[in-house]
Amino acid sequence: MKLECPKPNIPFNKPFFVGKELYNITQAVMADGHISGDGRFTRLCHTWLQEKLGCPGALLTMSGTAALEMAAILCDLQPGDEVIMPSFTFVSTANAFVLRGAVPVFIDIRPDTLNLDESLIEPAITTRTKAIVPVHYAGFACAMDEILQIAAQHGLLVVEDAAHAMLSTYHGQYLGTLGHLGCLSFHETKNIISGEGGALLVNDPVFMERAEIIRDKGTNRSRFFRGEVDKYSWVDIGSSFLPSDLIAAFLYAQLEQGRQIIDQRSRLFARYTVQLEPLARSGVIQLPHQDTACSGNGHIFYLITRSMADRTRLIEYLKERGVYAVFHYVPLHSSEAGLKYGRVSGEMTVTDTMSDRLLRLPLYYEMTEDDVDRVAELVTAFYRVNR
Ligand SMILES: *Cc1c(COP(=O)(O)O)cnc(C)c1O
Repeated sequence: MKLECPKPNIPFNKPFFVGKELYNITQAVMADGHISGDGRFTRLCHTWLQEKLGCPGALLTMSGTAALEMAAILCDLQPGDEVIMPSFTFVSTANAFVLRGAVPVFIDIRPDTLNLDESLIEPAITTRTKAIVPVHYAGFACAMDEILQIAAQHGLLVVEDAAHAMLSTYHGQYLGTLGHLGCLSFHETKNIISGEGGALLVNDPVFMERAEIIRDKGTNRSRFFRGEVDKYSWVDIGSSFLPSDLIAAFLYAQLEQGRQIIDQRSRLFARYTVQLEPLARSGVIQLPHQDTACSGNGHIFYLITRSMADRTRLIEYLKERGVYAVFHYVPLHSSEAGLKYGRVSGEMTVTDTMSDRLLRLPLYYEMTEDDVDRVAELVTAFYRVNR
């Protein structure tokens, strides 16, 4: 009897090393003797982000959530002020503003990009509106030209949630550098990782001095270290938003290989697209919309199935064959805290249907094209029996 060797499982995501992470950590401890925040590796990361992304100021944070919380403080919101955002996003997008007493106002998303529908922003503006928070879902850009124009007309701030969008571009500019403030995440599920981690991109220099203070417990310690003041003290509200230099050391190794990581993920993304194109043409699934004005970063490869029942069956079918696919956000407007702290502007039809039908396929740096082919073949086989 011939025994068939079972194929290894394909996880949804897998954290990875690209080379010098552990070496850099050793350097921080042994050579620098500095493992608290703002050491040599943090400075290297700041310079890398500023130069490569082209933004005047970048500050590492402990998470993408922390970057959003800093951005919310910088918006100087009063209780009851409103912030327009999609409902189809991660909780931190809204929670950061709720912590300041603001009200998230949820608007619907576009059926093609799953990003907030820019035509619904103006109808949602009231006298209390202070900011717009575009979330670049799956690393594909929101309609930033239109959003920035609306914001300028109404005197609103724009905070980009670019947690998915590291090294994605919009008309040649990096996402996260277009709004007044931009937030990146280096969580292990994102493209470039340090376990937990994030960065605030300060694109409008008027926010820079206050951003440094908020990040360092409300003190002007950064100015003290630069010799600009002769002692440091408590000058504003703030918290300890800065990461240890151990995290920065890990991150710097990934940043140095950033382009290579994005290129590898984009190759896998393109392979999925080619393999699943026939199913999309036959109308049983919808694939991610690709806009020529922006380049993606291979962050998420998703399918839109015909119904929630289809999606549930497909997840089960793949799981039985060792492939782990997952759905994504439960819309914030209908979640327990969303109902309590936020409000809706207009209909949420697209958000509701997309969140019921969206499925994310495995995609990680160490995945091979053969792995992609195996997943795509299984999806194709599923639809052969579920027409
Ligand atoms: C991951 C994510 C965040 C939060 O980032 P953390 O680093 O996990 O705190 C915020 N917004 C979006 C859209 C995300 O996907």
